[in-house]
Amino acid sequence: MKIKNVVVIGSGTMGSGIAAHLCNANIPVTLLDLKTEISQNARERIHKSRPPLLIDKTKIDNIKVGNISDDFDVVKDADWIVEAVVERIDIKHQIYDKIFDSRKDGAIVSSNTSSIPIKVLSQNLNKDQKKDFCITHFFNPVRYMGLLEIVKNEDNDLNKINQLKEFCEVELGKGAIVCNDTPGFLGNRVGVYAMQIAMTEAFKMKLSVEEADAIFGRPMGIPKTGVFGLYDLIGIDLMADVLKSFIKELPESDEFHEVAKEIPLVKKLIETGYTGRKGKGGFYRMKKTDSGKIMEAINLETGEYSTSQKIDIKSDKVDLKALINRKDKYGDYAWSVLSKIIKYASSLVPGITKEFNDIDEAMRLGFNWAKGPFEMLEEIGVKNFFDKVDEYKGNKFLENLSNSKDENFYGERQKYTSIETLGKIKKTASSVDGNSSASIYRFNDFNIVEFTTKANALDYDSMDALKKATDKPLIIINESMQFSAGVNLTYTMEFANKNDFKSIEKFIKYFQETCKHLKYSKYPVISAPSGLTLGGGFEVLVQSNFVASHTNIVIGLVETIVGLIPAGGGCKEMLARWLNTKEAKKDPKYAPLKVFDIIGYGRTATSPVEAEPLKYLLPENKRIMNRNSLLEVSKEILNENKDFKSPNELTFNLPGKAVIDDMNKILEKLYNDKVILDHGLTVAKELAHVLSGGDTTKDKTLTEDDLFKLELDAFMRLIETKQTQDRIKHTLATGKPLVN
Ligand code: NAD
Repeated sequence: MKIKNVVVIGSGTMGSGIAAHLCNANIPVTLLDLKTEISQNARERIHKSRPPLLIDKTKIDNIKVGNISDDFDVVKDADWIVEAVVERIDIKHQIYDKIFDSRKDGAIVSSNTSSIPIKVLSQNLNKDQKKDFCITHFFNPVRYMGLLEIVKNEDNDLNKINQLKEFCEVELGKGAIVCNDTPGFLGNRVGVYAMQIAMTEAFKMKLSVEEADAIFGRPMGIPKTGVFGLYDLIGIDLMADVLKSFIKELPESDEFHEVAKEIPLVKKLIETGYTGRKGKGGFYRMKKTDSGKIMEAINLETGEYSTSQKIDIKSDKVDLKALINRKDKYGDYAWSVLSKIIKYASSLVPGITKEFNDIDEAMRLGFNWAKGPFEMLEEIGVKNFFDKVDEYKGNKFLENLSNSKDENFYGERQKYTSIETLGKIKKTASSVDGNSSASIYRFNDFNIVEFTTKANALDYDSMDALKKATDKPLIIINESMQFSAGVNLTYTMEFANKNDFKSIEKFIKYFQETCKHLKYSKYPVISAPSGLTLGGGFEVLVQSNFVASHTNIVIGLVETIVGLIPAGGGCKEMLARWLNTKEAKKDPKYAPLKVFDIIGYGRTATSPVEAEPLKYLLPENKRIMNRNSLLEVSKEILNENKDFKSPNELTFNLPGKAVIDDMNKILEKLYNDKVILDHGLTVAKELAHVLSGGDTTKDKTLTEDDLFKLELDAFMRLIETKQTQDRIKHTLATGKPLVN
C-alpha cells in the first residue's frame, strides 16, 4: 500500500496542522469541514501561522478544501483518511459511517482523538473495517512536534500499521511510536501525570509557583515553562477536561486518581475566567502599570497575586543526582516529584507498551523533555534510587530491577526506529571527551561534537571542543531543541561588566581561528542543524564543508539586534556567497548591498526553502524531514567524500568607499523615518564599514584574514559602547530587543 493521496476531515487546530504537514511532504491533501468556508479559513490560518506550519508557503494551494456534503467523493480516491473533528463520539461515529461507505478497499482510516479508545471509536465497524482503523495521535503544532503515536489494538492488521508507521517516519519525518489502546496513550498518560504530581506536591510542600517552576523545569531537563507556566499555556480549563476524561477512563486503582482530584484554587480560577494566557491570566498574570507590564504570580495558599519572584537555585546544569540530594526544600520537592513519576511510569509497563524506552522517547518527542523517566532513573543510578525510594509494592518493573540491581538495565535507546540515530550511536562511541560546553564522541573513522550548554550558546570551551575534534572527519550535531542560539551573551557580558575587553577580544579571535580551522582542516566537517541556528551558530555552520539541515530550522545572522555585527566570519562568508552571483560579477556594489540588507535587518529564515534565497543555505545543502535521519545523511556525505580536499582560501575585491555612500543614503532615510535610532545608526555604520571592505578599492585584493580583522575591530568598538551593552542586558533579561 502506497499513500499518495490523503483526506483530512475537520479543519480545526489539528486537522489544519496535519494537512499543512502533508503539504510539507508534497502529499496531495484535501481538507473537509462542515462548510467549505471553514476549511477555507483554515487554509488562510495555515498561511499566516507563526511559527509557520508550512515549510514552503508558496505550496499552500496544494491543500484543497471542501465540505463534507458536496465534496465527500474525494474520500473514494484517498489512501488514508484522517478524522480530526471535535472530540464527540456521536459526531465521530457519523463520520465513520460515511467514510466506510465511500472509502476504497484497504484505505486506512484513522482518528486524531486524544482520549477516546479505539474500541469505542470502532464499535460500529465490521471485522474487515476494524483491520484498517487506528488512532494517529499527532501533537500540536504538527510541523514542530516530533511525536506521532500510532495506536493499535488486537483487531488491526499489523502489516498495515507498520506501513503507515514507515510512511509517517519517512515522508512526514515523525518519531512514530506504535502503542497499545490505553487512555492517554504514552505521552499524555505520563506527561499529564507528571504535571499533576508537580502541581499537587507544590501545594503539599508549600512551594510557590515560581519555586516549583524553577525546579520542575530546566534543572530536570524539562522546558522552562515548568508546571504552572505550562498549565497557563495549555489552558487551565482544558486541563480540567483532560483530567475528567482520564478519571472516567482509568480504573479506580490507578494512581492517576490520586493526583487528578479537584483543587479548590484551580476550580476558582476557572470559574472566574482565569483560564491561563488565553483568559485573564492564570497562575501568572500580566499587570499593566504606568511604568509598563509587570508579571505577577498567584500565592497558592491565599489566591492573591503579587510581583513574580525570580528564583535562583544556583545551578545551571541538569544534574539530577545533585538536585535530589540537595538538603533543602528544592531537593525534597525534586525527589518527591521525580521518584513518583518514575514509579508511575514504570508501573505502566507492559500495559501501555512493552518497551519502556518508548515512554522515554514519547516524553522527549511530545513534551520536549531532555530525558524520560527511565533515563532519569538510569542517571540517578539504580542503587541510589533504591536506597532512597520508599514503597513500590506491586510494581513489577521496579521489583525486578531491585532484585537484579542492574545499573545497565537501560540498553539501547530509540527502539521505535531502525534509523541509526545520534541517540543510539552515542552509547557506542569508542571514547568520550570534551568539556563543560560540548562533548566529543570518538569513533574509528569520525568524531561527533555535541554542544551541551543552555540553547547551545557558544563560548571558549565550545570552540575548544570543535578544534580538538578536527583530528578526524567531524559531524556537528545534537539532540537538544537548538543547534545553537549563537554566542553566549551572558558569558560575554561577564567580561564587559568587568571592563575586561581583552578577554572578549581573545574569545572572538579564537572563535574566528576555530571557524577557519573547521573550513580548511584536512578532514571534512559537517554541520547537521535543527532548531535555532543563529549568529555564532550560523557562523559554525557556514564554515563547515557540508550541511545536512533538518527542515525545522530558524537560521540567520541576528547580531545587529543586540548592537553587534557578526564577527566569527558571518559577514565574510555572506559576502563570498553573494559575490559568487551573476549580478555581482556585473555590479561590484551588488553583494555588499545585499548582505547589508540581510544582516542589517537581522533577517531569519524558518526553513531551508526560505533560507536559500537569502543564501543562508545553498542548493547543495541537504534538507531532511526526519530529524532522526540527520546522522545517517551526514555519514553518507562522509562516505561520498572519502577523497575530500579542503577548499582554497577565498579572496575579496570590494568597492570600499564607493558603496559606503549608497549605504549611508539608505541609513539616512531609515534614521529620518525613525525606523532606526542613534545606536541603530552606529551599528549599521560599523556593518557598512565591514561589508564595503573598509579602506579599500575594487582593484585591491583582500584575504579572509583581512575580513576577519575588519569584523573583529568593528565588533570590539561596538561591545565597548554602553548602548550595545544596554541592548544585550535588555535581551538577556526580557528575551526582547531594545531599540536605542
Ligand atoms: P477544533 O475544535 O479546533 O476543530 C474541530 C473541527 O471539526 C472544527 O473545524 C469543526 O468545524 C469540525 N467539525 C465538527 N463537526 C464536524 C463534522 N461533522 N464534519 C466535519 N467537520 C466537523 O479541534 P482540534 O483541537 O483540532 O481537535 C480535533 C481532534 O484532535 C479531537 O479529537 C481532539 O481530541 C484531538 N487532539 C487535539 C489536540 C490539540 O492540541 N488541540 C491534540 C491532539 C489531539
